[in-house]
Amino acid sequence: MPDPNNSFALRDFTPYQEKDGEEYMNADQKAHFRALLLSWRKELMEEVDRTVSHMKDEAANFPDPADRASQEEEFSLELRTRDRERKLIKKIDKTLELVETEDYGYCDACGVEIGIRRLEARPTATLCVDCKTLDEIKEKQILG
Ligand SMILES: [Zn+2]
Repeated sequence: MPDPNNSFALRDFTPYQEKDGEEYMNADQKAHFRALLLSWRKELMEEVDRTVSHMKDEAANFPDPADRASQEEEFSLELRTRDRERKLIKKIDKTLELVETEDYGYCDACGVEIGIRRLEARPTATLCVDCKTLDEIKEKQILG
């Protein structure tokens, strides 16, 4: 199962075809990313719904404490995943707001174009590859 934080795994996804000399983040590109974010959001919502109903079905009372324990463990794992997905949905909502402004697609730290291909892989990215890498190095240094 793909980690929703790590990669963008939309089932029906057509990469954007740039025309020659096309302006970065023009109306077509914005429409592309808006649609992409919305279908990603929809998939996540469906995933959340599925788990909730699955958990309702499974929430039978097991008389055996060992069964109950393993069920609780499974549920808490699922709840953590759902929690991550809910956070991601919030992030997508914020990104959708950003798409309506002039700031979408540009690095938060240095202002360069993040790039279509990188945004297609990570539509919620707010840093360019260089700044992201730098960020990760700094993070490792703080932690290590
Ligand atoms: Zn940057």
